[in-house]
Amino acid sequence: MQSIHEIIIIGGGSIGLAIAIELRLLGADVTVVSHNFKAAAGHAAAGMLAPQAEQISAGAMLDLCVASRDLYPEWSEKIESISGADPGYWQCGILAPRLTHTHTDADWLEPRSIHHHQSGLSESIVGGYWYPADGQVDSRALVRALWCACQFLGVKWLDAVKVTSICRSGGRVTHLETSEGEMSAQHYILATGAWSQQLLPIPVVPRKGQMLSVMVPEAQLANLPLQQVLFGEEIYIVPRRDGRIVIGATSEDAGFAPHNTPAGVEQLMTNAIRLFPQLRDLPIQETWWGFRPATPDELPIMGTSSEANLTLATGHYRNGILLTPITAKLIADLVWHQQADRLLSDFSWQRFDPRSASISDRL
Ligand SMILES: Cc1cc2nc3c(=O)[nH]c(=O)nc-3n(C[C@H](O)[C@H](O)[C@H](O)COP(=O)(O)OP(=O)(O)OC[C@H]3O[C@@H](n4cnc5c(N)ncnc54)[C@H](O)[C@@H]3O)c2cc1C
Repeated sequence: MQSIHEIIIIGGGSIGLAIAIELRLLGADVTVVSHNFKAAAGHAAAGMLAPQAEQISAGAMLDLCVASRDLYPEWSEKIESISGADPGYWQCGILAPRLTHTHTDADWLEPRSIHHHQSGLSESIVGGYWYPADGQVDSRALVRALWCACQFLGVKWLDAVKVTSICRSGGRVTHLETSEGEMSAQHYILATGAWSQQLLPIPVVPRKGQMLSVMVPEAQLANLPLQQVLFGEEIYIVPRRDGRIVIGATSEDAGFAPHNTPAGVEQLMTNAIRLFPQLRDLPIQETWWGFRPATPDELPIMGTSSEANLTLATGHYRNGILLTPITAKLIADLVWHQQADRLLSDFSWQRFDPRSASISDRL
């Protein structure tokens, strides 16, 4: 027998859960179908909120990222107040030290000031940039808080259920085939991250990232050696408030190949020690990996689709944690109020549609 729902969100990572919360707050009846909660990229992410440190070029993507970063303080408080769980938002600022003298503007920190700003940097650092408005969120804590908020708000959560097919006819999705039978809804939202191409012909592929963490010993917890993110040229180092220091990340075209590799871990450790040498003596706490949902132009795919009752929210690549609050807001407004914010216009799936390309080629 087919189960019937109002809105089904396929995928329960940070994007799917955050959209579920916004829609539920607007009064919708929401079901999230999640194949593997632990595989969600949010469990693997460093959680940097770094539009400036990432040096995203001026344009639609930078506007989107900055808008989302600006939502973070209030949005994370809202998530905490609903869930009772702290998402670990910290506007700690991001320091971007450089090994080569490449400065082009007035924001450049000369060697003396960067070493004064952060002690313990490698002697080879010749300067860098300071981005005080960038920051971080503890992405695992965030995903947990989002999940708790969904539970509190009464979002239906179908875990370990895989959608195997999105069945379409006459410009609409008719139903989903899943590992637990058929389901249907008035509206569907695709938020399946790196796995999106398994369900729809959209160009989202996995880009694997390996990570590791070290732990500051208990005796030094009152005086953490790092209180800001270090965004180096080959490595980033993200201190959490509880003494963990997260180090990342590799960027590999390895499909969905699981596991950490000696080469990946070596790359992380070598580059991290080169940037911040005192890490060499800290105990390794954990290694892990995850899959970024990458698109050919590294921009997300968001908004309407070729089916009238299917909305897309995927392909957030390396900025999906940063973009979670704005994505949730824009997609909830689109689905519930049929209001398409102008911020969405550059992220349509149609930029990859061969029919659109042939039309624009002819123009
Ligand atoms: C190593 C690493 C470091 C990163 N660092 C940062 C960072 O510092 N800052 C930042 O902003 N972003 C970062 N990211 C990117 C960020 O994590 C992702 O862009 C974001 O988490 C994507 O969220 P999502 O909800 O779209 O996908 P995911 O979190 O991957 O969730 C997708 C979910 O959909 C489920 N699913 C898939 N297919 C199906 C199906 N057929 N049926 C049912 N369920 C399905 C999956 O099981 C999964 O749980 C990083 C990513 C990685 C891997």
